[in-house]
Amino acid sequence: MPGFRRIVISRLVWVETKWAPHLVFCIPARLAYKQRVSGASLESINASTRFCAVLGHPIRHSASPAMQNAALAALRLNWRYLAAGVRPADLRAAIAGAKAMGFIGLNLTVPHKTAALEMMDALDEKARLLGAVNTVVFETPGPNGDWIPLGRAADGAITEVRTHGHNTDADGLARSLKEDFHWPDLRGPMSSHRLDATSAGASVASGLRPDSNLRGASVLLLGAGGAARAAALQLAEEGVASLFLVNRTAARAGQLAAEVAVRFPAVKIVLSLPPDPVDLLLNATSLGLKPDDPPPLDQAWLKSRRPPRVYDMVYRPAETALLRAAKAVGCQTANGLGMLLYQGAAALELWTGLPAPVEIMRAALKENIYG
Ligand code: NAP
Repeated sequence: MPGFRRIVISRLVWVETKWAPHLVFCIPARLAYKQRVSGASLESINASTRFCAVLGHPIRHSASPAMQNAALAALRLNWRYLAAGVRPADLRAAIAGAKAMGFIGLNLTVPHKTAALEMMDALDEKARLLGAVNTVVFETPGPNGDWIPLGRAADGAITEVRTHGHNTDADGLARSLKEDFHWPDLRGPMSSHRLDATSAGASVASGLRPDSNLRGASVLLLGAGGAARAAALQLAEEGVASLFLVNRTAARAGQLAAEVAVRFPAVKIVLSLPPDPVDLLLNATSLGLKPDDPPPLDQAWLKSRRPPRVYDMVYRPAETALLRAAKAVGCQTANGLGMLLYQGAAALELWTGLPAPVEIMRAALKENIYG
């Protein structure tokens, strides 16, 4: 380019112009865009920096680095959260490598959540129930001999390390449903459920009522993939009264129904659209991810039954065709951003033992996803 000279020296990029012949900027040239650490960090990366990462394939779309690095900076931890594209065949080696390098923890995303299950040294109950791991905590024996997260162990005290697999996806969904719809109130004005700061403690930040629960609700769940399975089992565990399961491939919905029925026999499970209005319509299909995707449900049903709440796990775009149609007929709507946020907040709390700075994480997510 005339009048513009770029010199790459080792890992620095120097730019000189004929108008200002001096160093304009320097960046670590080989760090992938998603792995560059935001300006909010307090300390530059140094020999004491500890790492967490999300492993997936593909991974470039992930908003988790933006959310988690904003949180780590707010917590003043000299930790960084990276994103690594790992092919399924390399997952075991990647987890072993992170363990060997003293990583604090990992998140796992598509397509690794199920495969990781049998790679863990220990599993928490939710990961076992859902048959999937989305969070790995590297642990070491603590002073009392029990396993503690590496992130909470003193440097010199780390001897042996084990992998402990967790699943925070379903709890993230439940928390998002309760917050976004101010559950359990079904139809009252939202503002009446914001609690007084003096009485509600930590739940004020998220607008949650301490007694929030989904007990007794009726839910229409669309989909029967990994996310729908997590949702169905979580909703059943939370004590919903009835679950209507509908999926493009009916046999998969049947399998999911059978699984829920065995574990939670008190829940009424129906493999069809409900004849009456339900408390919640939950989309867990991937329909909506593409801008020209149709809604995953017949509009006539939506119009005639008009469920009070419609939740779409898709968060990009912010408003899917389903949410648009639901809004148009007067339903309360929410997208899956809260689910993404709360699964990440729970993972961070497992690694650090500190309360997650939820609002900072939410803002970082919104900025990263919606700009
Ligand atoms: P998955 O295992 O691949 O399941 C995809 C589901 O969508 C299946 O039920 C599939 O039906 C259905 N589907 C796909 N294309 C369809 C079409 N053209 N018409 C009707 N149904 C269709 O994916 P997943 O992991 O469960 O994820 C599902 C959705 O949830 C995705 O949009 C994902 O982005 C979202 N999600 C969001 C979060 C969050 O944090 N907000 C977390 C996890 C997932 P068949 O069984 O017939 O193939």
